[in-house]
Amino acid sequence: MKFGTKAVHAGVEPDPTTGAIMTPIYQTSTYVQESPAKHLGYAYARGANPTRNSLQKSIAALENGKHCICFSSGMGATDAVIKLLNAGDEVITSADLYGGTYRMFKRVFEKYGIKFHFIDLTKSSNIEPYLNDKTKLIWLETPTNPLMSIVDIRACADLAKGKNIIVAVDNTFASPYLQNPLDLGADIVMHSVTKYLGGHSDVVMGALVMNDEKLHQDLHFIMNACGAVPGPQDSFLVLRGIKTLHLRMERHCFNGKKVAEYLKSHPKIGKVYWPGFTDHPNHSVAKKQMKDFGGMISFTLKDDNTAKAIQLMESVELFSLAESLGGVESLINHPATMTHASVPKEDRIKTGLVDSLIRLSIGVEDIEDLLQDMEQALEKV
Ligand SMILES: *Cc1c(COP(=O)(O)O)cnc(C)c1O
Repeated sequence: MKFGTKAVHAGVEPDPTTGAIMTPIYQTSTYVQESPAKHLGYAYARGANPTRNSLQKSIAALENGKHCICFSSGMGATDAVIKLLNAGDEVITSADLYGGTYRMFKRVFEKYGIKFHFIDLTKSSNIEPYLNDKTKLIWLETPTNPLMSIVDIRACADLAKGKNIIVAVDNTFASPYLQNPLDLGADIVMHSVTKYLGGHSDVVMGALVMNDEKLHQDLHFIMNACGAVPGPQDSFLVLRGIKTLHLRMERHCFNGKKVAEYLKSHPKIGKVYWPGFTDHPNHSVAKKQMKDFGGMISFTLKDDNTAKAIQLMESVELFSLAESLGGVESLINHPATMTHASVPKEDRIKTGLVDSLIRLSIGVEDIEDLLQDMEQALEKV
Protein backbone atom coordinates (compact mmCIF):
# COMPACT_ATOMS: atom_id res chain seq x y z
CA MET A 1 0.00 0.00 0.00
CA LYS A 2 1.29 3.50 -0.83
CA PHE A 3 1.90 6.15 1.82
CA GLY A 4 -1.21 8.32 1.28
CA THR A 5 -3.51 5.29 1.32
CA LYS A 6 -1.88 4.10 4.54
CA ALA A 7 -2.30 7.57 6.08
CA VAL A 8 -6.04 7.39 5.42
CA HIS A 9 -6.70 3.72 6.18
CA ALA A 10 -3.98 1.93 8.17
CA GLY A 11 -5.01 0.80 11.67
CA VAL A 12 -8.54 2.07 11.27
CA GLU A 13 -11.53 -0.25 10.94
CA PRO A 14 -15.25 0.46 11.30
CA ASP A 15 -16.33 0.10 14.94
CA PRO A 16 -17.50 -3.53 15.35
CA THR A 17 -20.53 -2.64 17.48
CA THR A 18 -22.00 0.24 15.42
CA GLY A 19 -20.15 0.43 12.13
CA ALA A 20 -18.95 3.98 12.95
CA ILE A 21 -16.34 4.76 10.27
CA MET A 22 -14.21 6.79 12.70
CA THR A 23 -12.54 5.03 15.62
CA PRO A 24 -14.54 5.89 18.77
CA ILE A 25 -12.88 7.65 21.72
CA TYR A 26 -12.93 4.87 24.33
CA GLN A 27 -12.95 7.18 27.32
CA THR A 28 -12.61 4.53 30.02
CA SER A 29 -10.06 3.62 32.67
CA THR A 30 -11.09 0.00 33.15
CA TYR A 31 -12.92 -2.84 31.41
CA VAL A 32 -15.47 -5.27 32.86
CA GLN A 33 -14.24 -8.86 33.04
CA GLU A 34 -16.43 -11.90 32.54
CA SER A 35 -14.57 -13.94 35.17
CA PRO A 36 -11.30 -13.04 37.00
CA ALA A 37 -8.59 -12.38 34.40
CA LYS A 38 -10.96 -13.48 31.62
CA HIS A 39 -11.58 -10.46 29.41
CA LEU A 40 -11.67 -9.22 25.83
CA GLY A 41 -7.97 -8.29 25.75
CA TYR A 42 -8.38 -5.09 27.76
CA ALA A 43 -7.97 -5.08 31.57
CA TYR A 44 -6.85 -1.58 32.61
CA ALA A 45 -6.34 1.45 30.36
CA ARG A 46 -2.71 2.21 31.30
CA GLY A 47 -1.88 -1.08 29.60
CA ALA A 48 -4.13 -0.73 26.55
CA ASN A 49 -6.95 1.34 25.07
CA PRO A 50 -8.66 0.61 21.72
CA THR A 51 -8.35 4.22 20.42
CA ARG A 52 -4.64 4.21 21.26
CA ASN A 53 -4.24 0.75 19.68
CA SER A 54 -5.69 2.01 16.39
CA LEU A 55 -3.29 4.95 16.41
CA GLN A 56 -0.32 2.67 17.18
CA LYS A 57 -1.19 0.47 14.19
CA SER A 58 -1.47 3.54 11.99
CA ILE A 59 1.94 4.99 13.00
CA ALA A 60 3.62 1.55 12.74
CA ALA A 61 2.33 1.25 9.15
CA LEU A 62 3.60 4.74 8.21
CA GLU A 63 7.12 3.83 9.45
CA ASN A 64 7.05 0.36 7.82
CA GLY A 65 7.40 -1.10 11.33
CA LYS A 66 5.74 -4.07 13.05
CA HIS A 67 5.03 -2.35 16.38
CA CYS A 68 4.35 1.11 17.73
CA ILE A 69 3.99 2.26 21.35
CA CYS A 70 2.58 5.72 22.05
CA PHE A 71 3.60 7.86 25.04
CA SER A 72 2.24 10.98 26.70
CA SER A 73 4.98 13.11 25.03
CA GLY A 74 8.05 12.83 22.84
CA MET A 75 10.21 13.11 25.96
CA GLY A 76 8.19 10.29 27.56
CA ALA A 77 9.07 8.10 24.55
CA THR A 78 12.78 9.01 24.73
CA ASP A 79 12.78 8.38 28.50
CA ALA A 80 11.50 4.83 27.89
CA VAL A 81 14.37 4.09 25.48
CA ILE A 82 17.03 5.24 27.97
CA LYS A 83 15.39 3.06 30.64
CA LEU A 84 16.42 0.02 28.57
CA LEU A 85 20.00 0.77 29.74
CA ASN A 86 21.87 -0.05 32.96
CA ALA A 87 24.33 1.96 35.06
CA GLY A 88 27.74 1.82 33.38
CA ASP A 89 26.33 1.68 29.84
CA GLU A 90 27.47 4.23 27.28
CA VAL A 91 25.51 6.15 24.65
CA ILE A 92 26.90 7.84 21.55
CA THR A 93 24.82 10.80 20.51
CA SER A 94 25.00 14.10 18.71
CA ALA A 95 26.15 17.44 20.10
CA ASP A 96 23.43 19.04 17.95
CA LEU A 97 20.24 17.67 19.55
CA TYR A 98 16.76 18.84 20.51
CA GLY A 99 17.35 20.89 23.69
CA GLY A 100 15.03 18.79 25.84
CA THR A 101 16.77 15.57 24.81
CA TYR A 102 20.15 17.04 25.71
CA ARG A 103 18.75 18.18 29.07
CA MET A 104 17.29 14.74 29.84
CA PHE A 105 20.53 12.93 28.98
CA LYS A 106 22.76 15.36 30.91
CA ARG A 107 20.67 16.30 33.90
CA VAL A 108 18.50 13.23 34.51
CA PHE A 109 20.30 10.13 33.28
CA GLU A 110 23.98 10.96 33.81
CA LYS A 111 23.37 10.79 37.55
CA TYR A 112 22.15 7.19 37.15
CA GLY A 113 25.59 6.25 35.87
CA ILE A 114 24.86 6.27 32.14
CA LYS A 115 27.59 7.94 30.12
CA PHE A 116 26.72 10.09 27.09
CA HIS A 117 29.25 11.02 24.42
CA PHE A 118 28.03 14.12 22.58
CA ILE A 119 29.88 14.12 19.25
CA ASP A 120 29.50 15.36 15.68
CA LEU A 121 27.59 12.53 13.99
CA THR A 122 27.52 14.16 10.56
CA LYS A 123 30.71 12.20 9.83
CA SER A 124 30.07 8.57 10.80
CA SER A 125 33.85 8.00 11.07
CA ASN A 126 33.71 10.14 14.26
CA ILE A 127 31.79 7.30 15.94
CA GLU A 128 34.43 4.58 15.80
CA PRO A 129 36.80 5.91 18.51
CA TYR A 130 33.89 5.91 20.97
CA LEU A 131 32.70 2.35 20.32
CA ASN A 132 33.52 -0.14 23.08
CA ASP A 133 31.96 -3.05 25.00
CA LYS A 134 29.92 -0.64 27.09
CA THR A 135 28.31 1.10 24.09
CA LYS A 136 24.63 0.11 24.12
CA LEU A 137 22.89 2.87 22.17
CA ILE A 138 23.47 5.30 19.32
CA TRP A 139 20.86 8.07 19.54
CA LEU A 140 20.61 10.35 16.55
CA GLU A 141 18.41 13.03 15.11
CA THR A 142 18.28 13.99 11.43
CA PRO A 143 17.70 16.65 10.24
CA THR A 144 18.96 18.13 13.51
CA ASN A 145 17.16 20.79 15.47
CA PRO A 146 17.80 23.67 14.78
CA LEU A 147 20.88 23.54 12.52
CA MET A 148 19.41 21.18 9.94
CA SER A 149 22.51 18.97 9.82
CA ILE A 150 22.07 15.58 8.21
CA VAL A 151 23.29 12.31 9.74
CA ASP A 152 23.70 9.23 7.51
CA ILE A 153 21.33 6.73 9.16
CA ARG A 154 22.51 3.71 7.18
CA ALA A 155 26.18 4.42 7.90
CA CYS A 156 25.45 4.60 11.67
CA ALA A 157 23.39 1.39 11.54
CA ASP A 158 26.22 -0.38 9.67
CA LEU A 159 28.72 0.61 12.37
CA ALA A 160 26.45 -0.80 15.10
CA LYS A 161 25.59 -4.03 13.28
CA GLY A 162 26.46 -7.26 15.10
CA LYS A 163 27.67 -5.37 18.20
CA ASN A 164 24.47 -5.51 20.26
CA ILE A 165 24.07 -1.73 19.98
CA ILE A 166 20.61 -0.23 19.51
CA VAL A 167 20.36 2.52 16.90
CA ALA A 168 17.50 4.92 17.67
CA VAL A 169 16.50 7.79 15.37
CA ASP A 170 14.47 10.83 16.40
CA ASN A 171 12.52 11.21 13.14
CA THR A 172 10.40 14.16 14.30
CA PHE A 173 11.75 16.74 11.82
CA ALA A 174 11.41 14.51 8.77
CA SER A 175 8.10 12.78 9.67
CA PRO A 176 7.44 9.29 8.26
CA TYR A 177 6.46 10.90 4.95
CA LEU A 178 10.03 12.04 4.24
CA GLN A 179 12.16 9.36 5.88
CA ASN A 180 11.77 5.82 7.28
CA PRO A 181 14.79 4.95 9.49
CA LEU A 182 13.82 1.28 10.05
CA ASP A 183 14.23 0.71 6.29
CA LEU A 184 17.77 2.14 6.61
CA GLY A 185 18.79 -0.29 9.38
CA ALA A 186 17.75 1.59 12.55
CA ASP A 187 16.20 -0.40 15.44
CA ILE A 188 13.90 2.24 16.93
CA VAL A 189 12.19 5.30 15.45
CA MET A 190 11.09 7.97 17.89
CA HIS A 191 8.57 10.71 17.09
CA SER A 192 7.41 13.75 18.91
CA VAL A 193 3.86 13.14 17.62
CA THR A 194 3.16 16.67 18.85
CA LYS A 195 4.73 17.95 15.62
CA TYR A 196 3.97 16.73 12.06
CA LEU A 197 2.04 13.54 12.94
CA GLY A 198 -0.50 15.46 15.03
CA GLY A 199 -0.04 18.38 12.69
CA HIS A 200 -2.53 20.82 14.22
CA SER A 201 -0.73 22.12 17.34
CA ASP A 202 -3.41 20.69 19.63
CA VAL A 203 -1.82 17.55 21.14
CA VAL A 204 1.38 16.62 23.02
CA MET A 205 2.35 12.98 22.37
CA GLY A 206 5.28 10.69 21.57
CA ALA A 207 5.76 7.35 19.80
CA LEU A 208 8.33 4.60 19.33
CA VAL A 209 8.27 2.24 16.34
CA MET A 210 10.28 -0.99 16.09
CA ASN A 211 10.40 -4.37 14.33
CA ASP A 212 12.23 -6.49 16.89
CA GLU A 213 9.92 -8.54 19.17
CA LYS A 214 12.21 -8.41 22.22
CA LEU A 215 12.64 -4.63 21.95
CA HIS A 216 8.87 -4.28 21.65
CA GLN A 217 8.31 -6.44 24.75
CA ASP A 218 10.90 -4.54 26.80
CA LEU A 219 9.60 -1.10 25.78
CA HIS A 220 5.99 -2.16 26.30
CA PHE A 221 6.96 -3.34 29.78
CA ILE A 222 8.54 0.07 30.54
CA MET A 223 5.48 1.87 29.14
CA ASN A 224 3.13 -0.04 31.44
CA ALA A 225 5.47 -0.10 34.45
CA CYS A 226 6.39 3.60 34.31
CA GLY A 227 3.06 4.83 32.94
CA ALA A 228 3.71 7.73 30.53
CA VAL A 229 0.72 6.85 28.35
CA PRO A 230 -1.45 9.17 26.23
CA GLY A 231 -5.22 9.52 26.64
CA PRO A 232 -7.92 8.35 24.19
CA GLN A 233 -9.05 11.86 23.20
CA ASP A 234 -5.53 12.78 22.12
CA SER A 235 -5.18 9.46 20.30
CA PHE A 236 -8.35 10.30 18.34
CA LEU A 237 -7.05 13.76 17.42
CA VAL A 238 -3.79 12.32 16.10
CA LEU A 239 -5.62 9.61 14.13
CA ARG A 240 -7.57 12.44 12.53
CA GLY A 241 -4.42 14.48 11.89
CA ILE A 242 -2.61 11.58 10.22
CA LYS A 243 -5.28 11.23 7.52
CA THR A 244 -3.89 14.37 5.83
CA LEU A 245 -0.19 13.89 6.69
CA HIS A 246 0.84 13.28 3.06
CA LEU A 247 -1.11 16.32 1.81
CA ARG A 248 0.27 18.57 4.53
CA MET A 249 3.84 17.37 3.97
CA GLU A 250 3.63 18.07 0.23
CA ARG A 251 2.69 21.66 0.99
CA HIS A 252 5.24 22.02 3.82
CA CYS A 253 7.95 20.92 1.37
CA PHE A 254 6.72 23.17 -1.46
CA ASN A 255 6.47 26.25 0.80
CA GLY A 256 9.73 25.38 2.59
CA LYS A 257 11.66 25.34 -0.67
CA LYS A 258 10.22 28.71 -1.74
CA VAL A 259 10.99 30.39 1.60
CA ALA A 260 14.52 28.90 1.76
CA GLU A 261 15.28 30.18 -1.76
CA TYR A 262 13.78 33.59 -1.01
CA LEU A 263 15.91 33.98 2.15
CA LYS A 264 19.05 32.77 0.39
CA SER A 265 18.74 35.46 -2.27
CA HIS A 266 17.84 38.28 0.16
CA PRO A 267 20.59 40.90 0.72
CA LYS A 268 19.88 41.19 4.48
CA ILE A 269 20.24 37.46 5.16
CA GLY A 270 23.45 35.70 6.25
CA LYS A 271 23.41 31.89 6.43
CA VAL A 272 20.38 29.77 5.55
CA TYR A 273 20.29 26.21 6.91
CA TRP A 274 18.09 23.93 4.77
CA PRO A 275 19.15 20.47 3.49
CA GLY A 276 17.65 21.01 0.03
CA PHE A 277 20.43 23.38 -1.07
CA THR A 278 23.01 21.62 -3.22
CA ASP A 279 25.75 23.40 -1.23
CA HIS A 280 24.46 22.07 2.13
CA PRO A 281 27.41 20.00 3.52
CA ASN A 282 25.35 16.77 3.61
CA HIS A 283 22.97 17.42 0.73
CA SER A 284 23.85 14.14 -0.97
CA VAL A 285 22.99 12.14 2.17
CA ALA A 286 19.73 14.07 2.56
CA LYS A 287 18.90 13.30 -1.06
CA LYS A 288 19.64 9.62 -0.54
CA GLN A 289 17.65 9.06 2.64
CA MET A 290 14.81 11.62 2.39
CA LYS A 291 11.99 11.88 -0.13
CA ASP A 292 12.06 15.70 -0.05
CA PHE A 293 13.60 18.38 2.19
CA GLY A 294 10.78 19.55 4.46
CA GLY A 295 9.58 22.85 5.82
CA MET A 296 12.10 23.50 8.63
CA ILE A 297 14.58 26.31 7.95
CA SER A 298 17.04 28.19 10.18
CA PHE A 299 18.86 31.39 9.24
CA THR A 300 20.86 34.37 10.49
CA LEU A 301 20.86 37.98 9.39
CA LYS A 302 23.86 39.19 7.40
CA ASP A 303 25.54 41.03 10.31
CA ASP A 304 24.72 38.30 12.90
CA ASN A 305 23.04 40.94 15.03
CA THR A 306 20.88 39.44 17.81
CA ALA A 307 18.94 42.66 18.49
CA LYS A 308 17.94 42.87 14.82
CA ALA A 309 17.02 39.18 14.80
CA ILE A 310 14.69 39.82 17.75
CA GLN A 311 13.27 42.86 15.98
CA LEU A 312 12.50 40.66 12.96
CA MET A 313 10.75 38.10 15.18
CA GLU A 314 8.63 40.92 16.64
CA SER A 315 7.82 42.34 13.21
CA VAL A 316 6.23 39.31 11.56
CA GLU A 317 2.45 39.38 11.39
CA LEU A 318 1.37 36.11 9.81
CA PHE A 319 4.15 33.97 11.32
CA SER A 320 3.49 33.35 15.03
CA LEU A 321 6.35 33.68 17.50
CA ALA A 322 6.16 30.33 19.29
CA GLU A 323 8.00 27.14 20.21
CA SER A 324 7.10 23.83 18.54
CA LEU A 325 6.81 23.01 14.85
CA GLY A 326 5.04 20.83 12.31
CA GLY A 327 1.60 22.38 12.57
CA VAL A 328 -0.45 23.82 9.70
CA GLU A 329 0.44 27.38 10.76
CA SER A 330 3.86 28.97 10.19
CA LEU A 331 5.95 29.62 13.31
CA ILE A 332 9.06 31.66 13.98
CA ASN A 333 11.28 30.83 16.96
CA HIS A 334 14.44 32.07 18.69
CA PRO A 335 16.30 28.84 19.65
CA ALA A 336 18.78 30.52 22.04
CA THR A 337 16.05 31.82 24.38
CA MET A 338 13.15 29.51 23.51
CA THR A 339 13.51 25.88 22.33
CA HIS A 340 17.21 25.56 23.24
CA ALA A 341 17.39 27.73 26.37
CA SER A 342 18.04 24.52 28.35
CA VAL A 343 21.38 24.02 26.55
CA PRO A 344 24.23 25.94 28.28
CA LYS A 345 25.58 28.80 26.13
CA GLU A 346 29.14 27.36 25.79
CA ASP A 347 27.67 24.08 24.47
CA ARG A 348 25.31 25.92 22.14
CA ILE A 349 28.00 28.09 20.59
CA LYS A 350 30.26 25.04 20.05
CA THR A 351 27.65 23.46 17.78
CA GLY A 352 27.02 26.73 15.90
CA LEU A 353 23.78 27.66 17.62
CA VAL A 354 24.49 31.39 17.87
CA ASP A 355 22.24 33.91 19.65
CA SER A 356 21.24 35.50 16.34
CA LEU A 357 19.86 32.24 14.86
CA ILE A 358 16.18 32.25 13.83
CA ARG A 359 14.20 29.03 13.14
CA LEU A 360 11.11 28.76 10.96
CA SER A 361 8.49 26.04 10.79
CA ILE A 362 6.83 26.69 7.46
CA GLY A 363 3.11 25.91 7.49
CA VAL A 364 0.62 25.16 4.72
CA GLU A 365 -0.65 28.69 4.05
CA ASP A 366 -0.44 30.27 0.59
CA ILE A 367 3.19 30.95 -0.25
CA GLU A 368 2.54 34.51 -1.51
CA ASP A 369 1.29 35.54 1.94
CA LEU A 370 4.24 33.95 3.74
CA LEU A 371 6.79 35.67 1.49
CA GLN A 372 5.00 39.00 1.76
CA ASP A 373 5.05 38.78 5.57
CA MET A 374 8.77 37.96 5.62
CA GLU A 375 9.41 40.83 3.18
CA GLN A 376 7.57 43.44 5.29
CA ALA A 377 9.32 42.22 8.47
CA LEU A 378 12.77 42.34 6.80
CA GLU A 379 12.08 45.88 5.60
CA LYS A 380 11.68 46.94 9.24
CA VAL A 381 15.10 45.71 10.42
C1 LIG B 1 9.53 18.52 20.23
C2 LIG B 1 10.63 17.57 20.03
C3 LIG B 1 10.91 16.56 20.96
C4 LIG B 1 10.15 16.44 22.26
O1 LIG B 1 8.82 16.07 22.08
P1 LIG B 1 7.61 16.52 23.06
O2 LIG B 1 6.43 15.93 22.39
O3 LIG B 1 7.63 18.00 23.11
O4 LIG B 1 7.91 15.91 24.40
C5 LIG B 1 11.94 15.69 20.68
N1 LIG B 1 12.68 15.80 19.54
C6 LIG B 1 12.44 16.75 18.64
C7 LIG B 1 13.29 16.82 17.41
C8 LIG B 1 11.42 17.67 18.84
O5 LIG B 1 11.21 18.64 17.94
